[in-house]
Amino acid sequence: MKNNKKFETNSVRAGSIRSDQGEHSEALYLTSSFVFKNAKEAADRFSNVDVGNIYSRFTNPSVKMFEDRLASLEGAEQCIATSTGMSAILASVMSLCGKGDHVIISKSVFGTTVKLFDNILKKWGLDLTYVSLTNLDEWQNAVKKNTKLFFVETPSNPLTEICDISSLADLAHQSNSLLIVDNCFCTPAHQLPLKFGADIIIHSATKYLDGQGRCLGGAVLGSKEYMRHVVDFLRSAGISMSPFNAWIFFKGLETLKIRMDAHSAKANDLAQWLEKQKKVKKVYYPGLPSHPQYKLAMKQQSAGGGIVSFEVDGGKRDAWNLIDSTTLLSITANLGDTRSTITHPATTTHSRLSQKERDSSSITNNLIRIAVGLEDIEDIKEDLSAL
Ligand SMILES: *Cc1c(COP(=O)(O)O)cnc(C)c1O
Repeated sequence: MKNNKKFETNSVRAGSIRSDQGEHSEALYLTSSFVFKNAKEAADRFSNVDVGNIYSRFTNPSVKMFEDRLASLEGAEQCIATSTGMSAILASVMSLCGKGDHVIISKSVFGTTVKLFDNILKKWGLDLTYVSLTNLDEWQNAVKKNTKLFFVETPSNPLTEICDISSLADLAHQSNSLLIVDNCFCTPAHQLPLKFGADIIIHSATKYLDGQGRCLGGAVLGSKEYMRHVVDFLRSAGISMSPFNAWIFFKGLETLKIRMDAHSAKANDLAQWLEKQKKVKKVYYPGLPSHPQYKLAMKQQSAGGGIVSFEVDGGKRDAWNLIDSTTLLSITANLGDTRSTITHPATTTHSRLSQKERDSSSITNNLIRIAVGLEDIEDIKEDLSAL
């Protein structure tokens, strides 16, 4: 769904379907199936002579509106909506790889993504290698004859490490592989991985695309050639997005840019403030000149994003004390909400790792992650006044 309109215009207008009722706000099509005019139309739909709706596991107008709008924002030929972010990852890997194929994956991906690869996909014969997100040599050395996919999240969670998407895409293509980028943290408002050569984009729509913590959903985006296989998988596996959720996400996209700009501006302000606090040892935020990949971040992203992590002086007890001293921030592992959330990664999102693994990936016991919401930044700082 490529067109020549600008991002903010597409956010509010791309993909709209109007019924003959003339509604201005797009309708919600809550129906599991669709009626045909006659037997011939039914037969033509099933044999694909006539392209149209059959059943909402396959297509639904509300879902299609979300898909076309998100595709226009990412600059992708096609988007396939899925029930969750995890099912988007499952669908992309299952439809583009088979038994014996090799996937190279960054160590610093979402915890459940690692579980999906290790506990499920491996069982079905996938060969896996984990490498450091930022070390291109490790990626190069991991390539094998049967390598099919490279999988990354950038920026990473919670340390906001960044990979050079175009260098990694070049390496993937030289190795006859595709590069998948989970673009959950930046969203297309701040990063367009396809422009840098990535082949497939994954979203957990649950996070910023909704932006208000209401629904679960996901998406896979890329060329029609690859999405054909993802559609086949989705129809048979039944991991379709609910029309109701699609309608929520579709509306969420209308405010994506202004929300992301606001999350990012507030996060930038908070990161700078944190760097000046006596009890803060280190701040991780791609929008800070002190970030080791600041230059790359500013080339690849149009803003630093809404996630800030930092180390407090001391250990776990000190981190927990700070978390427990807050009264405004929500203590939850979720992110991408209007309300700021505060998390202790070592004992929640990254607790499945051993102490040694956490040490080697710098998920220290004094590390705290804040997903900055849309509250007034002065109130957020006030809530962290124990620092
Ligand atoms: C949350 C998340 C997912 C999984 O999405 P769900 O919608 O919870 O299934 C995948 N990747 C990243 C980066 C996430 O933050």
